[in-house]
Amino acid sequence: MDYPKKNKVVIIGSGPAGLTAAIYCARANLNPIVFEGFQAGGQLTMTTDVENFPGFPDGVMGPNLMDLLREQAQKFGAKCIMKQVDKVDFESYPFKLETDNEKIEADSVIISTGASAKLLGIKGEDEFVGRGLSTCATCDGFFYKDKSIHVIGGGDSAMEEAIFLTKFASKVTIMHRRDTLRASKIMEDRAISNDKIDFLWNAEPIEFIGNQEKGVYGLIYKDSKTGSEVEVETDGVFIAIGHNPNTSLFKDILHIDSNGYLITDGKSSRTNIRGVFASGDVQDSIYRQAITAAGSGCMAAIDAERFLEEDYEL
Ligand code: NAP
Repeated sequence: MDYPKKNKVVIIGSGPAGLTAAIYCARANLNPIVFEGFQAGGQLTMTTDVENFPGFPDGVMGPNLMDLLREQAQKFGAKCIMKQVDKVDFESYPFKLETDNEKIEADSVIISTGASAKLLGIKGEDEFVGRGLSTCATCDGFFYKDKSIHVIGGGDSAMEEAIFLTKFASKVTIMHRRDTLRASKIMEDRAISNDKIDFLWNAEPIEFIGNQEKGVYGLIYKDSKTGSEVEVETDGVFIAIGHNPNTSLFKDILHIDSNGYLITDGKSSRTNIRGVFASGDVQDSIYRQAITAAGSGCMAAIDAERFLEEDYEL
């Protein structure tokens, strides 16, 4: 798709934050460009039922919700480009961005790059990702029909992945490093009451076992109570231990906290560079919900609009 190279607003990222920012910017006649990245729609495209997004009493499938948000943004004139921004220069003004060796200028930038699944960093992980080892039940669950699989983690993501996987697998074991869950009570109750789900407590994964032919077929964990190492068989493993904010593009350019999240000023979406705003999971280590991301996308759009009105003739 052809798109202008000089823009009032460029939005990086296309999850609920980026697309909500796009809706607001488009309705303010700012003709936003959204660089969607390689995973257009963000993390919600990898989930199933979203039951807590207001306005959908019967729930909505994550990918459908993202399609609706994109459609709404495009209806008002936002241009969604399925490209990744490779480089930013916020030192000169207008700001400069690069994608596929193309240079784009922007009077303001909204960063909504979200977060990516965390990995464990243990032996065998790099080798077997995509071969019996997954971070996305929605993407890969189908391959585990009537299999016995493991889900690693004790938060809402792990419960959600495990419950979803019971649609395919014959047995799902949730392996958690402690003996109490971090997940919300409602998700915990759903997982516990599911006949296909078992729990393996105090189990810290230390190595994935597999081979070229079969992929992962086993897993070694340390029992954190006894210190002993135990090997279990598995037909597949899903890692669901949270996410890392996608801020590598802004390292040494924007202020980032010790956990890697972009720092915004007080209740605003302002970063430490005037005209650059951040919204969604890339700057939120606390709430991390689709609806809070959408709300902060709205804030970023309003902040960008006010910045452009105050400082520059449009
Ligand atoms: P999370 O709440 O941070 O939970 C991560 C889990 O992984 C924790 O149980 C943690 O163990 C475990 N973990 C982390 N690093 C580990 C490691 N190296 N080895 C073994 N285990 C490890 O992340 P999340 O589950 O992705 O949830 C993030 C946010 O999204 C939460 O606010 C959650 O409510 C929300 N969310 C909501 C829904 C829903 O409502 N449907 C679905 C998904 C996510 P410890 O407990 O020991 O730290």
